[in-house]
Amino acid sequence: VHIEDSFTTCSGRVIPLQIFVEQENIDKCEHAMLSLQNAMRWDEQVYGREYDLDKFMIVAVNDFNMGAMENKGLNIFNSSCVLAKPETATDSAYERIEGVVAHEYFHNWSGNRVTCRDWFQLSLKEGFTVFRDQAFSADMGSRTVKRIDDVNLLRTLQFAEDAGPMAHPVRPQSYLEISNFYTVTIYEKGAEVVRMIHTLLGEALFRKGSDLYFDRHDGQAVTTEDFVQAMQDASGVDLAQFKRWYNQTGTPELTVTDEFDAVEQRYSLTVKQSTPKQSDELPLHIPLALGLLNPAGEEIHSQVLDVLAAEQTFVFEGIIEKPVPSLLRGFSAPVKLHYGYSREELVFLMKYDSDGFNRWDAGQKLAIAALQKNIQAYQAGDALSLDEMLIDTLRGLLTDDALDKGMLARMLMMPSEAYLGELVAPVDVDAIHSARQFVRVELAKALRNELFDCYQENLSDEDYRPDADEIARRSLKNMCLGYLMLLGEAQVLTLCAAQFRDSNNMTDSNAALSALVHSNYDGAFMEVKAAALDAFYNEWKKDPLVVDQWFSVQASDPSEGVFERVQALMAHEAFDINNPNKVRSLIGVFCNQNRAHFHRADGAGYRFLADRVIELDRKNPQVAARLLTPLTRWRKLTADRSGLMQQQLQRIKAQSALSKDVLEVVSKSL
Ligand code: ASP
Ligand code: ZN
Repeated sequence: VHIEDSFTTCSGRVIPLQIFVEQENIDKCEHAMLSLQNAMRWDEQVYGREYDLDKFMIVAVNDFNMGAMENKGLNIFNSSCVLAKPETATDSAYERIEGVVAHEYFHNWSGNRVTCRDWFQLSLKEGFTVFRDQAFSADMGSRTVKRIDDVNLLRTLQFAEDAGPMAHPVRPQSYLEISNFYTVTIYEKGAEVVRMIHTLLGEALFRKGSDLYFDRHDGQAVTTEDFVQAMQDASGVDLAQFKRWYNQTGTPELTVTDEFDAVEQRYSLTVKQSTPKQSDELPLHIPLALGLLNPAGEEIHSQVLDVLAAEQTFVFEGIIEKPVPSLLRGFSAPVKLHYGYSREELVFLMKYDSDGFNRWDAGQKLAIAALQKNIQAYQAGDALSLDEMLIDTLRGLLTDDALDKGMLARMLMMPSEAYLGELVAPVDVDAIHSARQFVRVELAKALRNELFDCYQENLSDEDYRPDADEIARRSLKNMCLGYLMLLGEAQVLTLCAAQFRDSNNMTDSNAALSALVHSNYDGAFMEVKAAALDAFYNEWKKDPLVVDQWFSVQASDPSEGVFERVQALMAHEAFDINNPNKVRSLIGVFCNQNRAHFHRADGAGYRFLADRVIELDRKNPQVAARLLTPLTRWRKLTADRSGLMQQQLQRIKAQSALSKDVLEVVSKSL
C-alpha cells in the first residue's frame, strides 16, 4: 500500500510523491514524506537542483543490508530509515529518517545524473552526498549540535578505521570486494574533504563550483579529480595540493605550539603536520580555523589559516596580552590536534569561545583529562578520584539558563569508551570501563540536585514534536535521568518507572527502559527490570523496529550476565539471523557498544562473534564482513586480549569456502 502527496518544483511542475510500505505501516510514513518535500525544496534553494522525472517513489523493505539505495525514481529503503510515528520511533530514528531520505534524494544529482566512472570513485558521490545531507539536517535542526554529533562519529569510527588494518584513502587504490568499501572513510571522511573545499572557497564560490560540476558533467561518469577540478576552475582557488587528501591513508596529526612576545606585541603559532600511517607522505593543504581570545574572553582575531607545509609558523602582530587560541574551530579538518591546554584554559574556552563546537570540545578535553587520570590510577591500583574543576564546571553549565539544551546534553555526556580507546595504546578495556563508570557515578552524586531539578524542569505533557527544540529538551532530560539512575535512589526509580509507564512517545519510553535496565539497583530491583522488559516486548512484539530497540537495550546493558543473556536472546522467537536489522541490534550492539563484556578476559566474546561471522558468511557475506570489524582491531588491545582475538581471526580464515567479503577483511587484519 502507499501514501501519496506531491511537490511543486521551482519551475512549477507538480511531482507526485509515493511511499510504499506494508499495510500495517501505513500510519508511519508522514515524517519520511515531509522530509522528502523539505529535501526537494532545499536542493533547489541551496544547490539550484530541480527534480527531473515526473514521479518520485520510495519503497520500504524489512530485510536490507544498508540504509537505502538511490535507484533512480524509486529509492529502496531499509524500513528503519522510513517508518516513524511518535509511539514507535525515537528522536534519533526521526533524525536518521530525515537524513537518509534527503541523502538518497540528493543522489539524484550527486550520484545519478553525475555518476562514478568506476568503484574507486565511490566517494565522489558518497562523500559529496553525505556533505549535502549533513548541511540539510543542520538547516532543519540545530547546526552546532549536528556538527558535534557528526564529529563524534567521525572521531570514534573513522579514526579507528584509519588506524586499523582496513585503512584506505578516500579514493582507494585496490579492493577485492567493493562492498567492503562502503566505509566511514568513503562516506564520512569523504564528506569532511568536501567540507574543507567548502571552507576554502566559501559559500558563494562553492556554489559556483558545484554548478559548474553539475553542468559540465551532466550525464557523465566521472572521477573525484573532475570534482575538484570543477571547484578549482569555478573559484580560481588553487586546489592542486589539496587533492592529496584523496590519496593519503591515515589521520593527519597537527602539533601546535605558540610563543608570545610582550615587548614586540607579537603572538606566533607553529604548526607541524604528519600522517603516521602514510609512509611517503607529502604535506596536505589543511584549513585550520582559528580564533584568538584575550584574557577577558573577547575575540581579538579570527581566521582560517592555510596550513601547507610540514612545519609552518603564523605570526600575529599587535597582540598586547597573551591570547588563548581556539584551534580547529568547527572541526575545520579531519585531524588530531595537539596543543598543551591547561585545565584553566579549557574552562575559559568553555565559557567564552564564540565557536559552539569548540566550547563543547574544550569540555570533552577536560573530561578526557579527568578520565585518563583515573584510567592510570586504576592500572596502578590506586584510589580513583574526580577532578573538582570538572564537577564545578558542569554544575555551572547545568544552572546556566542561557545554554542551548542540546548543547548542554552533549556537554554532560562523557566521551565514549570507544573514543577513549582511540586516544591511548594499548587499549586497556577494563581500566577504561571502570574509570568512566566511576566518573559518571561521582558526577551523579556531586550534581544530584542540579540533575534532579533539570530533569523536572524539562518534563512536558505536550504532544510529541520532532523539532530541534523538543529533541534537545528530551535529550537533556533523559541525559539527567541516566545519571540519576546510577544513584540507586528509590525516589528516582519511581520517576523513571513513571516515565516508562506514562510517556506518550518512544524517545522517553526507550530512555526510561534503558535507564531501568542499565542501572545500579540490585536485589528486588531485578524483578522490576525484568518486568519492564517483558511489558515492553508484549506491547510491541508485532513491530519489528521496536523489537530491534528492545534487543539493543539488552545488548548494551553493562551489568553482569549480559553475555549469557545476549546468547539466550539469539534463541528468542523474535530474533532472526537472516534479518540484518536484528543482527545489528543484538550482535552488533553487543560487540561494538558493550566493550567491557565483549572483551571479557576468557575470550568467549570473541569466540561468540567468530561463530556468528562464520554462520552468517554462508547467508549474507556483506553483513558478515561488517560484523567482523571489532575483531580486526586486535593490535590495539593489551596482549592478553589481542592474542585471543587473533586466534579467532585465524579460525575464521581457516574455514573453507569463505566469501570474498570476509576473506578480504580477515586477510588484511592478520
Ligand atoms: N548508495 C547507497 C547509499 O549510500 C548505499 C548502497 O549502495 O546501498 O545511499
Ligand atoms: Zn549514498
